Parts: sequence; C-alpha cells; structure tokens
Amino acid sequence: MTVAEQTAEEVTQKAIRTRALIIGTGFSGLGMAIALQKQGVDFLILEKADDVGGTWRDNTYPGCACDVPSHLYSYSFEPKPTWSKLFSPQPEIWDYLKGVTDKYGLRRYIRFNSFVDRAHWDDAEYRWHVFTADGQEYIAQFLISGAGALHIPLIPDFEGKDDFAGAAFHSAEWDHSVDLTGKRVAVIGTGASAIQIVPEIVRDVAELQLYQRTPPWVVPRPNKPFPEALKRAFAYVPGLRLAVRTGIYWFLEGLGFAMTRAPGLLRVVELVGKWNIRRNVKDKELRRRLTPTYRAGCKRILYSPNYYQGVANPKCHLITDRITRITRDGIVTADGTEHKVDVIIYATGFHVTDSYTYVDIKGPGGEDLVDRWNREGVAAHRGVAVADVPNLFFLLGPNTGLGHTSVVIMIEAQIRYVAEAIAAVDKRGAQALAPTREAQDRDNAELQQRLARSVWNTGGCRSWYLDEHGVNRTLWSGMTWEYWRHMRKLRPSEYKFLGVKAPAEVA
Ligand code: NAP
Repeated sequence: MTVAEQTAEEVTQKAIRTRALIIGTGFSGLGMAIALQKQGVDFLILEKADDVGGTWRDNTYPGCACDVPSHLYSYSFEPKPTWSKLFSPQPEIWDYLKGVTDKYGLRRYIRFNSFVDRAHWDDAEYRWHVFTADGQEYIAQFLISGAGALHIPLIPDFEGKDDFAGAAFHSAEWDHSVDLTGKRVAVIGTGASAIQIVPEIVRDVAELQLYQRTPPWVVPRPNKPFPEALKRAFAYVPGLRLAVRTGIYWFLEGLGFAMTRAPGLLRVVELVGKWNIRRNVKDKELRRRLTPTYRAGCKRILYSPNYYQGVANPKCHLITDRITRITRDGIVTADGTEHKVDVIIYATGFHVTDSYTYVDIKGPGGEDLVDRWNREGVAAHRGVAVADVPNLFFLLGPNTGLGHTSVVIMIEAQIRYVAEAIAAVDKRGAQALAPTREAQDRDNAELQQRLARSVWNTGGCRSWYLDEHGVNRTLWSGMTWEYWRHMRKLRPSEYKFLGVKAPAEVA
C-alpha cells in the first residue's frame, strides 16, 4: 500500500511514512511531484491551504496578473496554446496549475490544510521527522521545500496600526468582502502588486491615497487578448508556439545580461520609463516625484499598460512623505498631516530574506538551520541543498530568484537536479547525501563575486533582494541558461554519501 492510499483513520493515528515529502503546491511543489512520479519515487505533498496553486491561489487582488509572458511562465513539458493574453491574469494561471494537478492525478498525494511548522533529522535512522501544525507526524527520507520566498505577507510595524477603525488588509490576503466603492482608500507601497492594483480600483473609490517610499521604473506592456486565430495557430502550426517561447526567452535573457554584466545598458529602460511617465502624466511636479533616481533593474522593473494613468487620475493623490503612525481614522505622515481614510491596503511585499525563520528545521546533531543562517547568512549549495544537512532541498532556494524572466525555468532545472540527487543516493546503496562545506563555500564565493558587478549591487537602491548586511541572498548571478549549465549534472565529488551499505548488504 502506498502512503497515498492510507485511510484518513490511519493518517490521524500514527506517523505517516513516505520516501519524499514535498512542501507546497505551487509551480515548484507540483513540478517536483511530477518528476518523482515519473521516477517511481513514493511521495506526499503537504499544503498549508485547502487548494493547490501557491502564490497564484493566494494573490487575488484586482488586476493581479503575471508580468512574464505565459508562453514562458509555464512548464516546458506542459505547454498551453490557448493562453488568453501575452501576460495572463491570475485566475488563468491558477486554472492552469489546477489543470496540471488533475492531469497528473496529484490530488491524492496532497494533504491539504497541513502547515509544516517543524522538522528534524534523525541521524541514526537517516530520516526526516516533519510535524504539521495539527500535530501530525510524517517520516521521510527526503524533504523538499517548494514553499518559495514570497508567501509570508509583510505588514510594516507602523505605530498605532492596530488602532485603525476601518478595514485593513495585505495585497496577498485581499478581503473581497470589503466594497471599496465610494470609499477613501490608502494603498501603501508602489511595488509589483501595487502598480497592478491602483489602476483597477481608482475607478470605484472616492479617493485613492498612494503612499510611495521609492518610485519604481515602470515600462508599458501590451494587454490585448490574443485573437482566436492566433491561439488556433499556436495549437496547430508545428513549431509556432515553441518559436514564440524561444523568442521571448532570448529577448528576456538580453535583459538578464544587462542586469548581471552590463548595468549601463539599462539606461535604455530608463528612457522608456521616462517616456512612459511623460506621455501619461501632465503635471511636471508629479512627474518628478514619480521618476526614480536609481539604475533601472536595481529594483524589479515593472510592466503596466495603465499604472501612470491610474496615478494621474484626479482621484489619486501621491503621498511621498514618510508614514509616522496610523490612527483610528487614518495615516499620519512626517509633515504632521493626518490623512483620513476608510480602508488601508498594505501592498508592502513579503518576508523574503527572513522567510526561512518560519519553519523550525533541525539538521544533524540537532543543529538549528535558522541559527546557522542567522549567523552566516542564508546560503545553499547550487541554491538547493545545504552543507552537511542530508536529504534536504529547497526549490527556488537562496540566490535562485530572478529579476528578468520566468522563475519556472529555474524551478525545472532544480527539479531535475533533485531527482538526480535521489537517484544518486539509490545508485550508491546509500541512505542520504549532503553537500560538503567546501563545495558550498566555493559555489557561494563565486556567486557573490559575480553578483558584485550586477545592477542589484551597484544600482544605487535598497531592495528586498539584499539582506540586512547588504548581501544579495535572493537572486541568481547570471542568465538562466547559465544556471541550467550549472545544474546539468550533479557532481558526486561535491557531496558526501551517508549510510552506504556494505557491498554484501547491497547484493
Ligand atoms: P514589493 O515589490 O516588495 O513592494 C513593496 C512596496 O511597499 C515597495 O514600494 C516598498 O517601498 C513599500 N514599502 C515596504 N515597506 C514600507 C514601509 N515601511 N513604508 C512605506 N512603504 C513601504 O512587494 P510586492 O509588490 O508585493 O511584490 C513582491 C514581489 O512579488 C515582486 O518583486 C515580484 O517578485 C512578485 N510579484 C510578481 C508579480 C508578477 O507579475 N510576476 C506581481 C506581483 C508581485 P520601497 O521600494 O521603498 O522598499
């Protein structure tokens, strides 16, 4: 009997054993599950919510869409010719992930409403013991996190925040029961989420106060639906969809080259961004306040067909004074003004470089991974495995995020690598593998050296890509094909294999 076939009764009575335990059902977790299914490895998936989809399930704010073209922001092995637009809206991407889940019959492997809150490695048994918030224990040889880094909403700790009498919520936890029509609404933040929200809600509200700390670079993007004939052509003309995907890929890799090797080239993006402001915003002073003073790409370059139109709407007021506190009735800024509002929307991003502190992971000898990363900074070997910690993998782990193209490309490279790692353990008759400290340190030293010349380190901005010491712990240092090459083959010399059986035992 496989663990997926255990009854609900058995599930609650005892620890559940499986070979591989995957956390999360976003692009990472589902992709990993499909790879393990193909490899014949028994697995289960723990999902904190009651449906699949990760970030594309959680983010339901008005205007939510992907700013990477869908023909690239999708699995290479599951193309979809019928994407409605170049940049698909959230419901369509969520549907895609639900469709993939059903196509591969993955639901029966998923334990929904299972929030992982701690895990420890048993040195003698070579197994991970994983506990969910409801107290259920899982025992697995391999633990693979597909939780990603953009799932724990960050609401700044403004003084008086809890005194606010109106509705207040984070962009990733949109409260659809709150009707914004005719209300005075504050949006705090001008990042990737906010620029999609503003043009959508400005129509309905009485007044929109937009609190900007740092202006983003925003360039236009098309938003027209694909004609039916083109969708049919994607489905039936041999090679067309792949040619489009390849074209998008190389266009965006050009951006990756500029960001990692030649930040000066990003002046072109700045020219387009300034033109975008000029053509939409007539007021010169407003234009000045909307224009960034750092190199484009240092923070994520944003794409929108209508952000500046939203900001230029007479109902929208851009507020650039620092927020000092929140009162029962509104928001007080550094100039002493109290801005009265009915609703506050925090579009203030996520816990990123500290997201790992939310799961208590103890490796060999009870070593606390959070303590280690607090001490040394968050780092992993090739972005997926952790020195001296056996059989633990992070998908989209440290330094494997991107600022220029689809992270699904990175995820697929990692999934293949993790599947290869599991096969390597089996092939050697071992129980576990862990990267050596030397291999991880060498990998990270090279990575940080390459990042030193990137726009994120030299572009003159402060972003969530950097940790509190100014070290980039989130982004890959090159183009995605370089990461593919980096992950093409697991090098056994970079790992120690544990629990290897003697030849007689193997026979
Ligand atoms: P974000 O890009 O981190 O933006 C957060 C915004 O909140 C920034 O403008 C930030 O200002 C502001 N902020 C944070 N703390 C503040 C404070 N104490 N006072 C005033 N302002 C404050 O967050 P996000 O918009 O949620 O996006 C997060 C990430 O999600 C993106 O970078 C992207 O990777 C992903 N995302 C992707 C898409 C997509 O289409 N693929 C869409 C949405 C989100 P500063 O700039 O000054 O820090």
